[in-house]
Amino acid sequence: MNSVYLDHNATAPIRPEALAAATAALAAGGNPSSVHAVGRAARARMEQARAQVAALIGAPASTVVFTSGGTEANALAIESAVAGGCRRLLVSAIEHDAVLVTAKVSGAEVDLLPVRSDGRLDLEVLAARLSAWDPADGRPFVALMLANNETGVIQPVAEAAVLVREAGGWLHVDAVQGAGRIAIDSRALGADTLAISSHKLGGPGGAGALTFGPRANLVRRLHGGGQERGRRAGTENVAGLAGFGAAAEAALRDLDGAASQSEWRDTAESALVAAGAVTIGAQSPRLPNTLCVAAPGFPAELQVMTLDLAGIMVSAGSACSSGKVKASHVLMAMGLDDLAGAAIRVSGGWSTGPDDWKLMVEAWITAYDRHAARRRAPAA
Ligand code: PLP
Repeated sequence: MNSVYLDHNATAPIRPEALAAATAALAAGGNPSSVHAVGRAARARMEQARAQVAALIGAPASTVVFTSGGTEANALAIESAVAGGCRRLLVSAIEHDAVLVTAKVSGAEVDLLPVRSDGRLDLEVLAARLSAWDPADGRPFVALMLANNETGVIQPVAEAAVLVREAGGWLHVDAVQGAGRIAIDSRALGADTLAISSHKLGGPGGAGALTFGPRANLVRRLHGGGQERGRRAGTENVAGLAGFGAAAEAALRDLDGAASQSEWRDTAESALVAAGAVTIGAQSPRLPNTLCVAAPGFPAELQVMTLDLAGIMVSAGSACSSGKVKASHVLMAMGLDDLAGAAIRVSGGWSTGPDDWKLMVEAWITAYDRHAARRRAPAA
């Protein structure tokens, strides 16, 4: 049976460069805080990874704080803003739960920023909220992701950054899905903090990073040792970080290849639409690897299970952690409530070829036609 992995937005397969770097670091061992030769070698691997990650996102290496992943990088930014006196957080309604839920439990008020039906932030609403800002709420904090994990829709981050800067605010960008798929220059984007994750770009799970600019004050999140310049205590995951660095370097090298994946995605999209699917977010700029399609009346869960039986691995909604499918808050924010339980996400990446997309299309059309025939058949 075919085995087609089109779920890179959940986790990308590990790149060979990342596996080699992580394995070498594991074999070498050592604690980066030790002053002896083995410790110094471990530190050198970690600092090489920091430079590789910094290069991917256009940030100085000295501003990259390593974390346990995208979730913790987002939390470090949000919790730092709240600790610094932000009492109201403006958060786009389509953020990943790592941002949405962290903001909700932070103790600050959360104002959701709506998106338009094309899946992009409504900048007019952002401008209005910022101009009506009550200084008693502290400095404005805005969380806007670079690209959505479900639809791939790229957000108007640079435009939002201008508004946030004029208001003296702090813009946090969750770039977990954009990194390694589109070029990122965190300074040119105007992000005050920007989060990325290793396992989305072909590195090992359990590693991530936050970069910060001069207008963001990060607080210490974990207490104990002085690692990460006192910002995050705990002996570092050197093997994971070495793999992360190698994956970041490979992803930067392969960015042109990543861009050309949109051709396969677009061909697949046209075929699915011709067969009866509805495409989501296609009128907006999107990540080149991501396709979100819905089939009214064909539950997402059933689509995913049927494709899985045919050896094709994709996701439904945003339920990548629980394994359970819930209606997508992203589609609901776009006003697509009727499709929110019937949409799947297909996402390729560095290991994908055009045949993977073709096999997915064939399997989806077979499954869809069978489902439609069953629905038409009179009950026995
Ligand atoms: N942000 C976005 C947009 C994501 O898609 C994910 C993972 O799905 C995360 C954050 C969480 O990243 P991690 O799994 O590294 O904690």
